[in-house]
Amino acid sequence: MGNINAVVDLRNDGEVAVIVMDRPPVNALGHELREGVMQALARVAADPAVARVVLTGTARAFSGGADITEFGKPPREPNLRQVITALEELPKPVVAAIQGSALGGGLELALGCDHRVGLASARLGLPEIKLGLLPGAGGTQRLPRVLGVEKALGVIISGDPLTGTKAAEGGLLDALLPAEGDFIAAAVSWARAHAAEKRVLSRGDGKLAEARADAGLLDRAAKGLLERARARLAARACVEAVRAALDKPFTEGQAFEREKFMELVSSDESKALRYAFFAEREAQKVPNLPAGVEARPVRRAAVIGAGTMGGGIAMNFANAGIPVTILEMDQAALDRGLGRVEANYATSVKRGSITAEQAARRRALFQPTLDYAAIAEADIVIEAVFEEMELKKKVFALLDAHARPGAVLASNTSYLDINEMAAVTSRPGDVLGMHFFSPANVMKLLEVVRGEKTSPEALATAVAVGRAIGKVPVVVGVCDGFVGNRMLSRRGGQAERLLLEGALPQEVDRALTDFGFRMGPFAMGDLAGLDIGWRLRQARGGRAIIADALVEAGRLGQKTGKGYYAYGADGRTATPDPEVEAIITAASAAQGIPRRAIDQTEILERLLFPMINEGARILAEGIAARAADIDVIWMHGYNWPAFQGGPMYYADRLGLPYVARRLTEFAERSGDETLRPAPLLAELAAAGRGFTDSLEKKPT
Ligand code: NAD
Repeated sequence: MGNINAVVDLRNDGEVAVIVMDRPPVNALGHELREGVMQALARVAADPAVARVVLTGTARAFSGGADITEFGKPPREPNLRQVITALEELPKPVVAAIQGSALGGGLELALGCDHRVGLASARLGLPEIKLGLLPGAGGTQRLPRVLGVEKALGVIISGDPLTGTKAAEGGLLDALLPAEGDFIAAAVSWARAHAAEKRVLSRGDGKLAEARADAGLLDRAAKGLLERARARLAARACVEAVRAALDKPFTEGQAFEREKFMELVSSDESKALRYAFFAEREAQKVPNLPAGVEARPVRRAAVIGAGTMGGGIAMNFANAGIPVTILEMDQAALDRGLGRVEANYATSVKRGSITAEQAARRRALFQPTLDYAAIAEADIVIEAVFEEMELKKKVFALLDAHARPGAVLASNTSYLDINEMAAVTSRPGDVLGMHFFSPANVMKLLEVVRGEKTSPEALATAVAVGRAIGKVPVVVGVCDGFVGNRMLSRRGGQAERLLLEGALPQEVDRALTDFGFRMGPFAMGDLAGLDIGWRLRQARGGRAIIADALVEAGRLGQKTGKGYYAYGADGRTATPDPEVEAIITAASAAQGIPRRAIDQTEILERLLFPMINEGARILAEGIAARAADIDVIWMHGYNWPAFQGGPMYYADRLGLPYVARRLTEFAERSGDETLRPAPLLAELAAAGRGFTDSLEKKPT
């Protein structure tokens, strides 16, 4: 409890006034906090004993930024810009003292102070772009004055925070304070020794001078950033706002920033990204979990199989500081698997994303073994052996025999029935699916597959573990391919069908990359290896006329230098191949399908709408609890562009009556009855509703 109001405290330490913001969990800049800081500043202004001021937060956060619960509500004064102006107008120097995070509005608040100090471990950033917005309280105007245009643009357009150390290197922090000892006392001492004068950023040019002297600097700095940016509209607005900082006096620059901010708030891009944010938060709430159920502690993990997935899964544990036993069937396979892990860590060290010591510490957490007795200590065991039911059953029987009571027994299967695996154990309540995505140490999605008999505790444990290792867990039910792969197979089927009807691989891929995917299905297939799908079809008795023909012609993708595309000398640059076109046209002729020109809109709709239709069936069956869960799965596991909000959100935005009408047309033209609108989709369309209505109504 503060003495200004419930969340702000003011005390004097000699001639230094200390204003502490303490609104759990992260000092979000809600109305009460803004008002408290304003009042504290008024008191400080009137107090002749105060010569300088320290503004600080808690160990966790200086401030995490705007209070998202205020989004969409009528604005209440003082707004953040007014608080920042008050800081600048206070005739006494103010030092922002930063521990934990200073993000978004939190960093903008710190930029309103005359000096900034903090811990090396602090995180300072402007993540607004991740919601399709730009920093709207002067961030685009003040940050370039402190960091220079190039570094500031990097921070604003990536949305990624700087560490305190990096911030100090760039001049955003004036000094780093020691991690040990009383932080506030250290900040007060620093203020006494160094904060002699006002240094109001908005009143000077600071590091803008450099970019003013070099007319091309801004555009050069922006180029690469714009190419990589996911929220393209917002990224362009950020560049223009920084240009305004260069070209206009501060007040005009700030007005321009405000104008751009308001434009972005109502853009489709930002609406989709804000939806994505809320969808992810919603997915964290596990559906149908009885109250009071708690996750079991997980101190050690085990992974069975050190292949493509097993190695990556094990890395996740080691990266989170959890010791992990990794078991293989023979020494050669174990060595191969560990070799890949080793190479992965070496790459990270080379790239500078982790230090050599960190890599060594992580490697030391691996306990390789060939002996099931070694898994007895594990609190969770995840199998990632070949995708064969008989083998999986054998492995689960062994897990049952060797794992300690209460250990969660999980399968990383992509398609197979978790209930069948659970049935070979004496403890089906502890069995579930943990479906990671490739590369498993990178991709965020984790489908947690709840079996018929999975206990609430085991489920809660898998979800908690997923979060502890940095994943986005989404709970799904058992069916062929669960949520993601089940929908993906619809897209795959249509992709092949489009080739037979007249499209070429590059046209199909382009429809998806123009939409915002990083890769289309054929480029993706070539990257992963076409033999993977082929083997799966062989095992399941499926056929894909063109894909099979390519594999049978020795075109396995990048690894053989040719697949749907031909690959140049670097093995990566794809070019359309006349040989492939010949295979495709021959296949069309053999099937008696006349080829026709298919435009990009039809290609896109043929790929996406059947997936959405499958999503509707998945919802109706209760395999996914919420449409938002499906969207989260696609954004985090399949690179669905977040600025398009996920498949179910996208369908809502287009309008379900339109989606239903097009699906009906596709079904009638092709004779494929599975393309008819699923009952839930038809019903919602008729009722004028959408899949994601409940979340859309949330204030965004
Ligand atoms: P992989 O062939 O690369 O690895 C499988 C590993 O399991 C091999 O190293 C093999 O030696 C080992 N193994 C086989 N039998 C074993 C046994 N009895 N005991 C111990 N180890 C054994 O396969 P992968 O791509 O890593 O796939 C593994 C599982 O993950 C499959 O169920 C697959 O469907 C699933 N999966 C794969 C992907 C992907 O993109 N590759 C994505 C998600 C899930």
